[in-house]
Amino acid sequence: MKGDILARLRRGEVLVCDGAMGTMLQSMGYRPGEPPELWGLENEEALRSIHRGYIEAGADVILTNTFGGNGIKLGRSGLGERVEEINRELARIAVDEANRSGRAVYVAGDVGPTGEFMEPLGELSEERAIEVFAQQIEALVEGGVDLILIETMMDPKEAAAAVKAARSVCRLPVFASMSYNVAPDGFRTMMGTSPREAVEVLLDAGADGVGANCGDVLASMMPDLIREMRGAGAELIVVEPNAGKPQLVEGKTVFPQTPEEMARSVPAMIEAGANIIGGCCGTTPQHIRLIAQAVREAMGGERG
Ligand SMILES: [Zn+2]
Repeated sequence: MKGDILARLRRGEVLVCDGAMGTMLQSMGYRPGEPPELWGLENEEALRSIHRGYIEAGADVILTNTFGGNGIKLGRSGLGERVEEINRELARIAVDEANRSGRAVYVAGDVGPTGEFMEPLGELSEERAIEVFAQQIEALVEGGVDLILIETMMDPKEAAAAVKAARSVCRLPVFASMSYNVAPDGFRTMMGTSPREAVEVLLDAGADGVGANCGDVLASMMPDLIREMRGAGAELIVVEPNAGKPQLVEGKTVFPQTPEEMARSVPAMIEAGANIIGGCCGTTPQHIRLIAQAVREAMGGERG
């Protein structure tokens, strides 16, 4: 009943993705330090209410709470034996909430970085990275996700390893999104990679879509970055900007951009070629609600 998400995007529909998970978990009582994946499993009702909040706000795509769910990260918390179970169950929870919504809501299996550097800078070989990501993605697929979203990647080689892993274990659509900052010579990942280089590597690895999330490229600057990715051959693009640049207020990290401010950039992002628009750090259901509204208005009210 949902229809093929790639076909919908290729027909020109613009879909809305959800917002931040970490800050929402914290508002529900999660304390940084323990793995958010385990907390979500042990506090299932809280996690479900976050998914519901984004679905009710108008998200067409929600992400599983599995950003740090790879075997390297979970292994550091002594959860290496539970990688499959954790990813599969967290996927099932998101899929169940999507199904209950009565709307066409897609669940993206969220895959984040391992936190290790790839060879030759670090010790993570491509082979090992593919193995680690394949284990996580296979479990997400078992849990019933509709697509794979690899995100907040700094190193295109690591992102490419995740894309190849996804390709090796499933036939689902695969999106790979890098985190860019604004450098003196243009947009760059922390590793110094340009959008053009990253897009080429990701498309080569077999990604259906590419994108940008987190980092310090604000919603208002995203149109320029989207045009660069398009120029490098990207057909489908997902963007999830943060709610502004983090500020330290009384010892707490605050993302200052209001839902209204972020939503104002939506028409320009669509104009530049964004296919899926959501939010990263600091965004809330209210941000997503106004982004969804702005998408509907920009598309001439054709979205229900
Ligand atoms: Zn972020």
